[in-house]
Amino acid sequence: MPAKKVVIIGGGIAGMGVAKTLREQAGDAFDITVITKDTFYMAGPSRPLILTGEQSYDRITRGYEEAAKNLKINLVNGLVTRIDPTERKVYLAESPTKPTVPSIEYDYLIVAPGVVLDGTSIEGYSENRANIANVYEPGRVDVLKKRVWSINEGTVVVYAPKMPYRCAPAPSETTLLIHTVLKHRGVREKVRLVHIDANDKPQPPVIADIVKSLFESAGIELITSREIAEIGADYIVLSDGEKIEYNILAMLEPNRAPQFVAEAGLGDKWFEVRSPTDLRSVKYDDIYGVGDVAKLPFPKNQEIAYESALFAANKILDETGTGEPVKVQYAFLGWAYVGNLEGRLESLSVRFGLNFTTKPPKPTKDPEPRAEYTKAKDSWEQAYLRNLFLY
Ligand SMILES: Cc1cc2nc3c(=O)[nH]c(=O)nc-3n(C[C@H](O)[C@H](O)[C@H](O)COP(=O)(O)OP(=O)(O)OC[C@H]3O[C@@H](n4cnc5c(N)ncnc54)[C@H](O)[C@@H]3O)c2cc1C
Repeated sequence: MPAKKVVIIGGGIAGMGVAKTLREQAGDAFDITVITKDTFYMAGPSRPLILTGEQSYDRITRGYEEAAKNLKINLVNGLVTRIDPTERKVYLAESPTKPTVPSIEYDYLIVAPGVVLDGTSIEGYSENRANIANVYEPGRVDVLKKRVWSINEGTVVVYAPKMPYRCAPAPSETTLLIHTVLKHRGVREKVRLVHIDANDKPQPPVIADIVKSLFESAGIELITSREIAEIGADYIVLSDGEKIEYNILAMLEPNRAPQFVAEAGLGDKWFEVRSPTDLRSVKYDDIYGVGDVAKLPFPKNQEIAYESALFAANKILDETGTGEPVKVQYAFLGWAYVGNLEGRLESLSVRFGLNFTTKPPKPTKDPEPRAEYTKAKDSWEQAYLRNLFLY
């Protein structure tokens, strides 16, 4: 029997997680293609530390070639623009690795493109986009770093949109790391630092008390349950009409799935799956949504993305009778950077976790910020990169 064609959109945590698991568990039973838009992958979790200079891009960037070679993956660099579920085809914009192939056919399709940051619902967003930086995207992190290291007085506003968005603590990490840099530079007293959270508390809720208390100690103003409704050249307006002037705006835009998901009828804002353990589309048996793109009742983070990938791979292994399933359950341990209130460029972190195998989910945390947790997060991130990119 010819090998079944598994096509994976997105060479990130979830996409590479599915590819590696299928190859390891089922040998040559599948012809695996990963289509991904960039020629490299850059890990997300430690990007905020670029602000303080404690992380650099080279340590968190990997190419795909080692994994493609050793796991026998057909690697296609290209931007997916459309899925046709009836013809079972994925369409790409121009691809430098497959210039003559506008579409690729599949037997199984894994949709794992992560999220799109979309602020266009906010008035003035597009016109003032150049004013907005954040820690989420390469390039924009550098811009934010440059601005934070140059400001001598004025106001810095950090914004977290309504959940769900990728990596719950990243906005408050941003605020505390900005405080750290300003303190380090000796200008903190002359800069107003405002953290606006559209949710009722800083995220994730399990560490909200710790974050609030650190904000208080650091003189950071916290505004909750209000969204940014308008962005001007040097001001924002909140949903209740309050206007705040800014010199630096570090804003995470609301998140959503890429447009091709909705256009293929796979979900509106997010990819609709049958359940957290059965990640098939509610409409199509041969299309799976994994990672951050999937509508799951869990936070969008690396551990959950990887676990969803293992559940998806297990389902395909089971359905095709090609290999043993791997052990997996929904639970995670995470570390949130809290910077260094005294302004030393040695960030501390708090540890927290959630276990979704118990009802209600069991939270755990160590409220004490520790330098060793920053190191633990680095080791964890590096281990993921080694596991999925093989170096
Ligand atoms: C700043 C930041 C901090 C974070 N902190 C943490 C943390 O502390 N702990 C934690 O657990 N998680 C954290 N995360 C979240 C974690 O990185 C994500 O949850 C995880 O990467 C999700 O995996 P994914 O495979 O769904 O998406 P990704 O890993 O983003 O992979 C998606 C891939 O799809 C590709 N792609 C997208 N669109 C297309 C397209 N149209 N065509 C082809 N390819 C496409 C992308 O280029 C990318 O390679 C953080 C993320 C960021 C950005």
